[in-house]
Amino acid sequence: MRVAILTSEAVPFAKTGGLGDVAGALPKALRAAADVDASLVLPLYEKTDRALLRGQIIDNLEVEWGGHRHLVGVWYSEATGAPSFLIDAPRYFARPEIYGYSDDHQRFAFFSRAALELLKRQGSPPDVVHGNDWQSGFAMAELHSRRGIDPFYARTRTLLSVHNLAYQGAFDPADLARMGFTRRETRDAFTQDGAAVALKAGLMLADALSTVSRRYAEEIQTREQGYGLDWLLRMRRDRLVGITNGVDYEVWNPATDPHIAAHFGADDLSGKRECKRDLLRRFHLPEELDRPVVAIISRLVAQKGYDLIRQAAGKILETGAFFVALGAGAKEYEDFLQSLHDHAPQRVGVYIGYAGEPLAHRIEAGADVFLMPSQYEPCGLNQMYSMRYGTVPVVRATGGLDDTVENFDRAKGSGNGFKFARYAADALLGSVYEALYCYAEPDVWLRIQRNGMRADNSWAAAARRYVEVYNAVMRM
Ligand code: ADP
Repeated sequence: MRVAILTSEAVPFAKTGGLGDVAGALPKALRAAADVDASLVLPLYEKTDRALLRGQIIDNLEVEWGGHRHLVGVWYSEATGAPSFLIDAPRYFARPEIYGYSDDHQRFAFFSRAALELLKRQGSPPDVVHGNDWQSGFAMAELHSRRGIDPFYARTRTLLSVHNLAYQGAFDPADLARMGFTRRETRDAFTQDGAAVALKAGLMLADALSTVSRRYAEEIQTREQGYGLDWLLRMRRDRLVGITNGVDYEVWNPATDPHIAAHFGADDLSGKRECKRDLLRRFHLPEELDRPVVAIISRLVAQKGYDLIRQAAGKILETGAFFVALGAGAKEYEDFLQSLHDHAPQRVGVYIGYAGEPLAHRIEAGADVFLMPSQYEPCGLNQMYSMRYGTVPVVRATGGLDDTVENFDRAKGSGNGFKFARYAADALLGSVYEALYCYAEPDVWLRIQRNGMRADNSWAAAARRYVEVYNAVMRM
């Protein structure tokens, strides 16, 4: 089975969030679990470390675009453990950031077209083109119309995975014609409330749909969480599955992690204390190792529950805990973190910005409690990373957080974290207090840590489920 995975980001080439981790790990997992010939296609960004590339394999890929022929290059890499092809189109991707430009829709539409040209140039058609998020909506739409007229793609089927329904890629419908989407049916698929919406076209025209947890697959069919597209997801619910993301345990493993101060595992957690010392030093906090460290790493956006953090932070500090935060995003939350730090520099450690991988690993290893009070969370990865590092997650019961975190039950000794349902600061605080109450009893705490460290969230199970979906879609 040949599968081409199209993505706008993948570790280690480029990452802004969870999609980067997933796209970096899935092709390797598919190869290992089911012997699928999976490859990755993504843009070559200015940020991408050129040392990861083996070389340029094509320098003259022809892409029809805006009535002209453009020539682009393609670079090859195996840095993810699977073949990756990086489309080198400087006009659109030689820019400092990955997203955030007014022509993002054109950038990723161009990328989609170039990716389909590349697959054609490779000779034998893929069985499945697996797209991700709105950036792949264009490829889903293009394949839908092209396979009726282009024999090369006649048997290729498509799957679109939604990693976050709130990001939809809306743009001016007047641009559709210039981008080559002229057929009536295709234009209708893009149109929603007078705008052109790339994600909508993808959801409408892909042969199958998936999202990144079972719970989120249900939530996005409701008005509250459907971001205007719930009706479409309800209409296509027979084509929609929820597959919880895995963790790449080659990257996130406290027994081998090159970024952390000492190694540890479920049987011997002594190294974690060294990691905590390292974390406190890194943030210039006093080395009071018995005080709990409550940490958070996330994009600073409302989705991640930063309003609750803002309301609860004072009370969390009153418990005597340290608070450590890593994040970048909205200015109001950056300002809040900075002022929290200025108010209690001996108790609060803050890094504002995108720190890359090493600091995120050091925080996971050194913290005791990890907060994820998200408004919604399609899957969430940090709760699973936390568990593997013996850091106990406190989460809101939504999306993938609800699927992967089990409330600790004192009587049974079961569970790997603490979760609350209501989106409110007092509910978050209730769970933080419960966690810190258990932290004060070392035997109980060790039990929770070990329950989390032994949870199996590896990619193997998820990869097998993707293969089931690929098989099903190939029979369509
Ligand atoms: P999302 O995809 O919504 O951002 P996830 O929990 O699925 O949320 O994935 C977030 C990923 O991004 C994690 O690997 C996390 O460590 C990383 N991350 C988020 N913000 C930062 C930051 N400021 N610096 C470094 N890594 C970050």
